[in-house]
Amino acid sequence: YIFSGVVGYMSWLFQVDEYLQHLQLSDETLMDLSMRFRREMDKGLCRDTNPTAAVKMLPTFVRSTPDGTEQGEFLSLDLGGANFRVLLVKVVSGENRRVEMQNEIYVIPEDVMRGTGSGFFDHIAACLAQFLEKMGIKERKLPLGFTFSFPCQQTKMDEAVLMSWTKGFKPTGVEGKEVVSLLRQAIKKRGDFDIDVVVVINDTVGAMMTCGYDDQHCEIGLIVGTGTNACYMEQMRHLEMLDGDEGRMCVNTEWGAFGDDGVLDDLRTDIDRDIDAGSLNPGQQLFEKMISGMYMGELVRLILVKMTKQGLLFQGRATPELLTTGHFKTSYIYTIESDKFDEGLAEAERILRGFGLDPTVEDCIGTQRVCEIVCTRAAHLVAATLASILRQIRDNKAAEKLRTTIGVDGSVYKNHPQFSRRLHKMVRRLVPDVDVRFLQSQDGSGKGAAMVTAVAYRLAIQQAE
Ligand code: BGC
Ligand code: MG
Repeated sequence: YIFSGVVGYMSWLFQVDEYLQHLQLSDETLMDLSMRFRREMDKGLCRDTNPTAAVKMLPTFVRSTPDGTEQGEFLSLDLGGANFRVLLVKVVSGENRRVEMQNEIYVIPEDVMRGTGSGFFDHIAACLAQFLEKMGIKERKLPLGFTFSFPCQQTKMDEAVLMSWTKGFKPTGVEGKEVVSLLRQAIKKRGDFDIDVVVVINDTVGAMMTCGYDDQHCEIGLIVGTGTNACYMEQMRHLEMLDGDEGRMCVNTEWGAFGDDGVLDDLRTDIDRDIDAGSLNPGQQLFEKMISGMYMGELVRLILVKMTKQGLLFQGRATPELLTTGHFKTSYIYTIESDKFDEGLAEAERILRGFGLDPTVEDCIGTQRVCEIVCTRAAHLVAATLASILRQIRDNKAAEKLRTTIGVDGSVYKNHPQFSRRLHKMVRRLVPDVDVRFLQSQDGSGKGAAMVTAVAYRLAIQQAE
């Protein structure tokens, strides 16, 4: 009797794994994916192919990483992550080199998120005013760095044309517009304070620059949070879209759009297609939708629903709660995949009961397995594209053995107990000849914008001298 119980369990487990097989990518597949991404990078960098490239490889006009001598007081805005924040950042150079920050989180109400672009920027200006008031610095005209974490076409450091919203942002009439001038207009309209917008950067650049302040080897920025993306220092001569061949410039890859031209179709599953179809931006950010925190919980939920319909879970009976879009939060995955297996199972049970289900031990194990496989796939996909960037940098330097640092930020990377370990392990497996260090960026989106502003100031002063 026990034996048949074990056999039954084993055959159930086997069916579960078989069901999830398409989500498990072999090393060969990942290697192939990495090659594909390298081709996509090339396509974005080259003048002839850039207009039709899915991966845009956007110039950022950031040409140097910090050298530690930066100083001054700066404001930053951080827009496009989990929270909207305003920060006051003090960069102190010299012996007591350090960065001090004060920040406030502001809510962007639903109706503002879905309203007009001008209403949206009015709200941002209002939050900024509130912050300056609170800090007692409304009379000062401080330099501001704007972290705007969306794909933007830049022509200078302080000009960024939004190409398309991502991650559930949707204010109307902003796509195709220059966002710094929209911000300046909103501030001018108020007339109660003035600031000097010096730079606009992507959050990946912020992560790279923040870590670059502590580690001079840092030349890659990575975000795995609500969205996913990476930037790195590229040779100017490879940036065919820009004149000039000297030195380097940071390129924002916008890898979230990898696959938007169909090159990932063989790896995308019906679940990935469902997620895309139900999203605010169908057909866009297809790679991001397989990975980031905005979608990971929903991916798990859709799989659980399908498995239930197949009779593999919950005795084939789904509840209305389980069937509701968005009900399975990405943060549930973090707790279900707790470092302690038993605690994770207890969490799974608690969460499933919250869905009105009456789970068996098998149901909890099955749910945990789904979380593990979805998260592992995400980590491995990121590893594959990171490997492409690492190879590109290594080839640029014609280095036999590259030693480099990646500055990383984002809620999934920071809060998921296993994600980073899975990512690091796979990167080292895909590019064993690169000595890579992962450095968590502390508050990259806030500090980073101040850092870029500070570097711009330092360079301006050096030029003037
Ligand atoms: C955006 C990127 C950003 C990433 C991480 C993506 O949706 O397109 O610009 O860097 O999210 O926040
Ligand atoms: Mg060039």
